[in-house]
Amino acid sequence: MKSNEEMVGYLLQYGYASARVADAMLKVDRKRFVPPAYLEHAYDDYPLPIGSDQTISAPSIVALMSKELDARPGMKILEVGAGSGYQAAILAMLVGEKGKVVSVERLSEIAELAKRNLADLGVGNVELAYGDGTKGWEPEAPYDGIMVTAAAPSVPGPLIAQLKDGGRMLIPVGPSYWQELVLVEKIGKKVSQKNILPVMFVPLVGEYGFK
Ligand code: SAH
Repeated sequence: MKSNEEMVGYLLQYGYASARVADAMLKVDRKRFVPPAYLEHAYDDYPLPIGSDQTISAPSIVALMSKELDARPGMKILEVGAGSGYQAAILAMLVGEKGKVVSVERLSEIAELAKRNLADLGVGNVELAYGDGTKGWEPEAPYDGIMVTAAAPSVPGPLIAQLKDGGRMLIPVGPSYWQELVLVEKIGKKVSQKNILPVMFVPLVGEYGFK
């Protein structure tokens, strides 16, 4: 695909993006989050390397996870795995100026990359946090929604604890070679899990993730 507009049109047409998610994705040019060596593939529907063995997710997965999370204006969202900052920027558009996104990243050089990319785009409502996101991010908890963009062996307990009553969490769960994208919903003391589709993410490494 040749432009961000064309890519978003495709995501809408195939039902990956809702109208609200498509609007947000139109404001965030994927090209700005892709390393120079891969620019010609910036709008193609697959993941791309961003350094340190990490990847920026495929646009269809970013769109689908954003749609399922259903982030609304004013919400506070936690992202685990900032990577390039692309998903965080889209979440920032969805929650708007009155909302906030906290994105945790465990690799310092990747956290710096995300910070730079977000600053270049002028996104102000994302706080980049550096640390092990399997423990969530206690200082800003609880969250209306949590999005984990790395694969976990199981849903980390601290993330369930930091989710508000009525909150939604999207997380890929399974072994390192493929996972099931899981929607976790917390209603009172009840926590339900629903499988959405098979996916492939880089591993979530940390105390409540892969060792
Ligand atoms: N959402 C990103 C893509 C994420 S790739 C984007 O839009 O570009 C997965 C990221 O998760 C990697 O950067 C990896 O370093 C990070 N990660 C892995 N384990 C983590 C952990 N325990 N805490 C925080 N980040 C983690």
